[in-house]
Amino acid sequence: MAYADDNIFAKILRDEIPSFKVYDDEHTLAFMDVMPQAPGHTLVIPKYSAENLLDVDPDFLAATIQVTQKVAGAVKRAFDAPGIMIAQLNGSAAGQTVFHLHFHIIPRHDGVDFKLHAREMEDAGVLEDHAQRIRTAL
Ligand code: 5GP
Repeated sequence: MAYADDNIFAKILRDEIPSFKVYDDEHTLAFMDVMPQAPGHTLVIPKYSAENLLDVDPDFLAATIQVTQKVAGAVKRAFDAPGIMIAQLNGSAAGQTVFHLHFHIIPRHDGVDFKLHAREMEDAGVLEDHAQRIRTAL
């Protein structure tokens, strides 16, 4: 399948729709997932038109995973999370719903389940507060 530049993350990269950004550089953007599986759920994407891990330029992948590591540390500190789950889905058969490569950063606490994937929209005020906490921790 060819990359479709009308996907929601391409629109976020072009600032056509708003997002709660936590990190932005030349190659990479990180922002809050609007349907978080746990408080602090953050997404990291390359500023490169790739559907998934298999078709991204390796240099952009390297930049994206380095930022994922950096932002994951900030999410861990901001949410006092003993565990951090990194998820990355390739293809609808794997559950991918937005076809622009992204890494999920999901804080985890002992005995606390995470919510189902892409189900429940979070309040904008809560997302902005969480984004601010992560920016402060970066
Ligand atoms: P995937 O299913 O492709 O691995 O993950 C896509 C993620 O994008 C889901 O976790 C979903 O909650 C999130 N998402 C869907 N639409 C939007 C949106 O408009 N803005 C943001 N920030 N996240 C979105």
